[in-house]
Amino acid sequence: MKGGNEGREWQVGYTNERVLVTGGAGFIGSHLCERLLAGGAEVLCVDNYYTGRRDNIRHLLADPKFEVLRHDVTFPLYTEVDRIYNLACPASPVHYQFDPVQTTKTSVMGAINMLGLAKRLKVPILQASTSEVYGDPAVHPQPESYWGNVNPVGIRSCYDEGKRCAETLFFDYHRQHRVQIKVVRIFNTYGPRMHPDDGRVVSNFIVQALTGQPITLYGEGTQTRSFCYVDDLVDGFLRLMNTDAEVTGPINLGNPDEFTMRELADLVQELTGTASTVVHKPLPADDPRQRQPDIAQARAMLGWGPKVKLREGLGRTIAYFDRLLSKAPRVADVVQLSA
Ligand code: NAD
Ligand code: UDP
Ligand code: UDP
Repeated sequence: MKGGNEGREWQVGYTNERVLVTGGAGFIGSHLCERLLAGGAEVLCVDNYYTGRRDNIRHLLADPKFEVLRHDVTFPLYTEVDRIYNLACPASPVHYQFDPVQTTKTSVMGAINMLGLAKRLKVPILQASTSEVYGDPAVHPQPESYWGNVNPVGIRSCYDEGKRCAETLFFDYHRQHRVQIKVVRIFNTYGPRMHPDDGRVVSNFIVQALTGQPITLYGEGTQTRSFCYVDDLVDGFLRLMNTDAEVTGPINLGNPDEFTMRELADLVQELTGTASTVVHKPLPADDPRQRQPDIAQARAMLGWGPKVKLREGLGRTIAYFDRLLSKAPRVADVVQLSA
């Protein structure tokens, strides 16, 4: 990759542009919609609510520049926009393994349709790819040049191979049809508006800690992940979208601070002050043992680096779940009321 906006002070500056965000009612998508609107863009949020929720975007609905369309990206979409962010795809292992065929269809057919749209409109398109393209990585930390270690027939394959095929399609549309592409490989991202039941480690541990349930540590808890706060990630998306046409990625975005799942459990226990204790559960199949992004390219090309430390981001996320859970009726209350 060459070019980029190295050294430039980045500004939002999207006024008058119409931006399509697929998966816009999801966790990351809703934050992206919010940031784009704050920058003056008109936003078309497309979602089929498979894992996303109306509550994630409810606060944006009154904005006349915000439009929502219920639509499944595996079907063609004819509309007029100036930029596309393609985020539609379930992201948590529990959700993407629930209907694995649909997961692959969403990644592959969704990519074809959104690339077809970008090709017709001659507009740039950003793809939310994933660190899962590296599988259970044999190289550590993972640079973009690493081709990965992926099981093509396992329970994670619908997601990993779907996302890999989507990357292939993005680069072929770029080479064959000169579509302007921006491919970002996202490493574990967390923050407010994660789905409380999506089974991801950060939401699981926090919800368990806040509701007094045991904290479920899979395996010995020695596997590692590197957690990026959602605001940092969205900032990276916007910077990448604003780069020159020749900047395509793939580019890693994530926080290189690496933690074992045991350390994460300890931190959640400390920050919530919970009495919940850790219980060990079996490690799921093909669970990557380690994951840490090499973000040298993002630093050089985008002048980007994560700002929010895990302790601070977890604090904000705990506060979100605390509010969310205090609004939801407890089962005991419902039983009492209906008695
Ligand atoms: P999410 O599940 O909260 O959001 C995904 C959104 O896509 C949801 O609103 C869902 O309803 C929508 N969707 C799913 N299938 C669809 C379809 N066929 N048509 C239209 N909409 C559909 O997950 P997220 O964490 O916000 O992830 C957003 C994107 O980022 C995904 O593409 C995911 O693969 C990628 N990503 C996320 C992470 C992470 O740690 N959160 C890591 C790597 C990659
Ligand atoms: N497509 C879409 N919106 C558009 C243009 C295309 O959804 O504005 C879909 C189209 O239905 C097709 C896919 O994108 O299935 C790929 O389009 P492309 O032009 O690459 O392929 P073709 O139409 O030639 O098969
Ligand atoms: N994990 C865990 N307890 C949970 C949920 C997940 O120990 O309740 C572990 C999981 O085995 C994995 C890590 O936490 O090693 C991250 O899992 P997550 O599903 O959040 O993301 P991914 O595996 O896709 O990185």
